[in-house]
Amino acid sequence: MDCEICGRGEAVAIVLIEGAKMGTCRRCFPHGKLVYNLKDEPAKEKIISTKQQQETEEIVETFGRLIHNKREVLGLPIAVIAERINEKESYLENIERGHLKPTLTVAKKLEKELGVKLIEKVVEEVGSTASPSASKDVTLADFVVIDKKKK
Ligand SMILES: [Zn+2]
Repeated sequence: MDCEICGRGEAVAIVLIEGAKMGTCRRCFPHGKLVYNLKDEPAKEKIISTKQQQETEEIVETFGRLIHNKREVLGLPIAVIAERINEKESYLENIERGHLKPTLTVAKKLEKELGVKLIEKVVEEVGSTASPSASKDVTLADFVVIDKKKK
């Protein structure tokens, strides 16, 4: 924003000149009554969303069945898979039976080894509840909705 009086300097303050609010540079602002300093004013119009989208990876619920079925199709014994991905056979047995949920690392190894999809990406909205103004915040999603309603 340029100074509205001389048009040359960068506006640093809002002053009242003959009833009109004008942005003025450092040199011109003594001409009017200071309303506020632009440099001190917090950017009110700035929309900052406290909500953040966090992408997490989750093991699919049916991991045991998926691993078992695929292993059957490939005709590979658990022992072979265990050796290939460097995990204990008993551990894999438990995973296949659904008794144990594999860690993401193990699931990724199994995905690669067996060619099955065991991990799904879940997008979560993480909102800060600490800020009392959080409810006023407009998220990008809200914008989209508003936009659609207009049309
Ligand atoms: Zn000026």
